[in-house]
Amino acid sequence: MVNKLSVLGSTGSIGTQTLDVARKHNMKISALTAHSNIELLEEQIREFKPAVAVVYDENRAQELKLKIKDLDTKVYCGMYGLLHAATLDDCDLVVNAVVGMVGLKPTLASIEAKKNIAFANKETLVAGGALVMDAAKKNGVTLFPVDSEHSAIFQCLQACPPEKSLKKIILTASGGPFFGKTYDELKDVTVAQALNHPNWSMGAKITIDSATMMNKGLEIIEAAWLFDMSPDDIEVVVHRESIIHSMIEFVDNSVLAQLGLPDMRIPIQYAITYPHRYESPVQSLDFSKISSMTFYHPDYDTFKCLDACKKAFKRGGVIPAVANGANEVANKLFRDGKISFLEIGELVCSAVDNFEYKESKTLSDVLEADKAAREYVYNCIK
Ligand code: NDP
Ligand code: MG
Repeated sequence: MVNKLSVLGSTGSIGTQTLDVARKHNMKISALTAHSNIELLEEQIREFKPAVAVVYDENRAQELKLKIKDLDTKVYCGMYGLLHAATLDDCDLVVNAVVGMVGLKPTLASIEAKKNIAFANKETLVAGGALVMDAAKKNGVTLFPVDSEHSAIFQCLQACPPEKSLKKIILTASGGPFFGKTYDELKDVTVAQALNHPNWSMGAKITIDSATMMNKGLEIIEAAWLFDMSPDDIEVVVHRESIIHSMIEFVDNSVLAQLGLPDMRIPIQYAITYPHRYESPVQSLDFSKISSMTFYHPDYDTFKCLDACKKAFKRGGVIPAVANGANEVANKLFRDGKISFLEIGELVCSAVDNFEYKESKTLSDVLEADKAAREYVYNCIK
């Protein structure tokens, strides 16, 4: 089992569940990072005693320094701090659980430092997929998927023979809080309604992404990169109960699925302990309590982000970074009450349709496209 983890985004939903897993298995922690939640970070530091703590916000980092001056933990801030936490010598595995594109530079830095990554930060792979996968290949680094669907596929693939026998990936989607609603019925939905996910308890950004189904669009791109598949061979099926976390189909039409309760601590733990399995803090699945499992086609007309992401991946170059950047801003504007729910999808589609193709060869190609997409959204709503 890995000995020491660096947990980027330790105060978030994935971060705190990672620490549950670490606590259960007495894993050591080299670094913990947050954006600004120093109250929770201080508790985590006092429990796990990492050598390094990072607070992205500089003022909050200064406050934390004073609070923990009785401890040996060194406090850093900003991107410099994140990069330091992502590349510590005394760390076997980086858990990247920050939300958004801010995770791209730390991901690339961890890879350059030859650290394997338990990878939750999907926005990074969507925006910078070519860069990240090339760097991982060159440096012999593995990205162990944390996202439940990608972990399910990764777990099923353990049974894949060496010859090319995989026909397609079947990504399951819960359908979110607005499953079955028409486009018109979504005109006036509130932030609170969109945050009310039926099955999963997650951070605010991904919960809104689940409501728009942008999350599933991002996951199509994530799966395409992680498993080297064309989006045409990645099917989305709505499975309301979130018991089957995804499936793979072989050329002989045999299908393998991975099942479990909707609890992220199973995929998080497998990403950390792969290829080994240990007891987990999650309850076992009681089939007698699952009365039925249902499956539906997604409603592509209502949830426009799904096709927008497929289109973005097919257009290639920086266009997925554009889709992601536009969504990050639109998602936040909706949460802040500045735009309506449906405008999120409209803005993402508009950005994907209107941006010119550019190659995505360097980090600055990706960062420039991301910045332009964010400005585009702000200009659209002015
Ligand atoms: P949360 O919002 O709950 O947590 C995000 C973490 O990142 C927090 O520690 C937060 O710090 C930190 N953070 C936020 N913004 C910045 C920034 N600009 N710079 C540095 N640190 C920052 O998110 P989740 O845990 O829900 O999601 C994390 C990632 O995992 C996302 O990419 C998401 O898509 C993915 N994911 C999440 C799942 C889930 O169940 N939650 C499932 C599958 C994937 P602070 O607390 O101080 O704000
Ligand atoms: Mg997922």
